[in-house]
Amino acid sequence: MVESRSPKPLMGVRIPQSPLMILEVRKSNDPILRKKSAEILEIDGQIARIIDDLKETLKKSNGVGIAAPQVGISKRIIVIDLTFIKQGIFELVNPKIIKKSGGRGKDEEGCLNFPGVFLTIKRAKEVLVKAKNREGKEIDIKAQGLFARVLQHEIDHLDGILFYDRLPLLKRIKFRKSLKK
Ligand SMILES: [Zn+2]
Repeated sequence: MVESRSPKPLMGVRIPQSPLMILEVRKSNDPILRKKSAEILEIDGQIARIIDDLKETLKKSNGVGIAAPQVGISKRIIVIDLTFIKQGIFELVNPKIIKKSGGRGKDEEGCLNFPGVFLTIKRAKEVLVKAKNREGKEIDIKAQGLFARVLQHEIDHLDGILFYDRLPLLKRIKFRKSLKK
């Protein structure tokens, strides 16, 4: 995917652009993480800017995925960076899981809001996701493996669901207790 970091000349004028921002990743107990994020009705410059800042924040934090509410923006936007396995960067607006398939598999997950915490979570092995890209074009994504897992983790964030909610009951209770310490 092409990135536009510096102002691009357009019709002979340079569009002033403020530098990209590293957004502050919220703490695990921030109530915004429990809110359902708002659907995006129009992808305008403000939304494009959020996407760029999310991308920059994700890069700086060495994560594979980030959802807008993780940095206090209650909007349905996620960015996934799988360049390290040559699957590219995905900027998704209003992503929605249409279908889960392939059974479920366990793997370890981390979360930017829970630094240093890794939990084994069971998720669908394959998902079909519908979303819009930053141009507003409808896209379908068929994902499996890590990509499917990250999509499910990040889309959960948009609904106020955190990864430990997906633990089996006893492990969940234990983890919640460890958070309060
Ligand atoms: Zn997370």
